[in-house]
Amino acid sequence: MAANPTYPTREAVDFVVIGSGAAGGVMARELSVAGFNVVVLEQGPYRKAQDFTHDEIGVVMQGELSLNPNDHPQTFRARPELKAEVPPQGSGLPPAWYAAGVGGSSVHFTGNYWRFRPVDFKERSLLGEIEGTSFADWPLTYEELEPYYTRVDWEIGVSGAPGPFDAPRSRPYPVPPLPIKSSGAILERGAKALGLHPQVAPMAILSKPHNGRPACIHCGFCLGFGCEMNAKSSTLAAMIPQAEATGRCEIRTGCTVMRLEHDDRGRIRDVVYLDENGVEQAQRTRAAVLSANGAESARLLLLSQSAKHPDGMANGSGMVGKNLMFNAHSATHAWFEEPLNEFKSVQCTRIVMDFYETDTKRGFYGGGGIDARPLVNSWPILFAMGGIAPGLPTWGAEYKRLMERYFTRNMSVLGNCTSLAMERNSISLDPEVKDVFGRPAVRVTYEDHPDDLATARFMQDQAVAILEAAGAERLWRDEVTPSTGGPHLLGTCRMGNDPNSSVVDRYHRAHEVPNLFVVDGSNFVTSGRGQPTMTIQALAFRAAEHMTRAARAGEV
Ligand SMILES: Cc1cc2nc3c(=O)[nH]c(=O)nc-3n(C[C@H](O)[C@H](O)[C@H](O)COP(=O)(O)OP(=O)(O)OC[C@H]3O[C@@H](n4cnc5c(N)ncnc54)[C@H](O)[C@@H]3O)c2cc1C
Ligand code: SF4
Repeated sequence: MAANPTYPTREAVDFVVIGSGAAGGVMARELSVAGFNVVVLEQGPYRKAQDFTHDEIGVVMQGELSLNPNDHPQTFRARPELKAEVPPQGSGLPPAWYAAGVGGSSVHFTGNYWRFRPVDFKERSLLGEIEGTSFADWPLTYEELEPYYTRVDWEIGVSGAPGPFDAPRSRPYPVPPLPIKSSGAILERGAKALGLHPQVAPMAILSKPHNGRPACIHCGFCLGFGCEMNAKSSTLAAMIPQAEATGRCEIRTGCTVMRLEHDDRGRIRDVVYLDENGVEQAQRTRAAVLSANGAESARLLLLSQSAKHPDGMANGSGMVGKNLMFNAHSATHAWFEEPLNEFKSVQCTRIVMDFYETDTKRGFYGGGGIDARPLVNSWPILFAMGGIAPGLPTWGAEYKRLMERYFTRNMSVLGNCTSLAMERNSISLDPEVKDVFGRPAVRVTYEDHPDDLATARFMQDQAVAILEAAGAERLWRDEVTPSTGGPHLLGTCRMGNDPNSSVVDRYHRAHEVPNLFVVDGSNFVTSGRGQPTMTIQALAFRAAEHMTRAARAGEV
């Protein structure tokens, strides 16, 4: 392994990558392998596989992998005319939920890796305008992105098998499907009884050794946890080691980027950050890649005001932070007579994609995919806190009996759905609440479009039908309610050909700043059907290829 470089801050490197998550990890690897000098600035720590534990309280309940909410508060409001508030302590997850550390949220994600279908990129043309929304086509097609989806399959590491409705693919999956779980078998049973077409769930988790990484050992502490085997295909496992092996990529952790500064020509010159000791530093660079996710990339641009960019960098369109999309969802839970032992292994092994496309006969826009998983009995404490069916005792001897019997007999079926882009849903700077560094807090403004909620309810009806057909002993729905946050942070620096209505062009270059690229979930024009990260990374591979070409031609 080559020695890690230490670049002086006052000499320009080729690229500074801000954030090392699902997108930033790909950018770091691709740009350093292409021969460029790269500094990655990551606010979180550098955890390795051996640092991950199964501590349910520490890791998930106390959010060890995320930023401390006391130091980094976020605020939420449903509509722009309301005052945003910090959610009360103990009320659940932060409005914009992500992990901070090398690998970002790819470290603790579930790993559902669904490609978009061709229709996702051109739905606006097919379906027409939807009033009150910014529904638009993407400035690229599935066919253009397909080679990069294939690179995600092979280079990130995705297990699976093609399904009946999948978009065309140029190469098979690199490793076979993960072993089917009880929830997958039950989903198959119920779906087939209804004439539906269950299929293997593609997962960014290795079923067999691949690219020097081992296969999953089915430990079960997967949702919300880091993988101590490196079998989960986070960028921490799949990309960062290869970036470092080039000897050209320096990963600087504990470094929070505060703002981007440009020179007289309007080109980014310095990336200003607080180092791990809280001392302000500025890394000089020839170009910057912002990969801090759909919440933080928008905040950083809004914080980077100057006389040239009074409303935030690259924000002449006013679109920075706008069009936030979370992916609507529904959850239905069931108990079965036979033990399912869902606490083992990965979350999902089978999905149903029959309701992916919008069907105008339903009377609303939207579609999605259905998956089966343990969810509330992923680990014991979660089940104890929320796994018992409504109306049954949650205290005393009967509660204990229910827990003992049903921890092993519980499963859930989720609907993962579209969200419509609307300008009023946004990430902005909170005017009052500040973080520990004095920066305005991330303010989330979000109210689902009625069609998003209708889609989630429709998907829940399908889930109920499947579970009934599969012979559930008891089932119950989580009420579909308006979103108050989410882990899918999409749309806030959307890509497009028109600089008046988008932030970056079709190659992720900011319309107004020639050496600034934004590459992460913020670029999405539409939301897809609920599992965005495969597409975030396909876009990142494509963006890196373009940037490499442009940089070599002296066009960055
Ligand atoms: C529990 C959970 C489960 C999920 N499961 C799935 C799934 O099954 N399928 C799916 O498709 N998606 C899933 N997701 C979503 C997925 O993780 C995200 O879509 C993806 O990680 C986003 O990639 P990104 O590169 O945009 O941002 P991130 O992965 O969030 O990376 C951003 C990085 O930037 C860093 N950063 C931010 N601001 C700064 C700053 N100012 N200075 C320095 N560094 C900064 C952050 O610390 C972070 O490391 C899940 C998310 C969560 C939370
Ligand atoms: S279930 Fe598999 S992929 Fe998930 S954390 Fe355990 S070993 Fe890793």
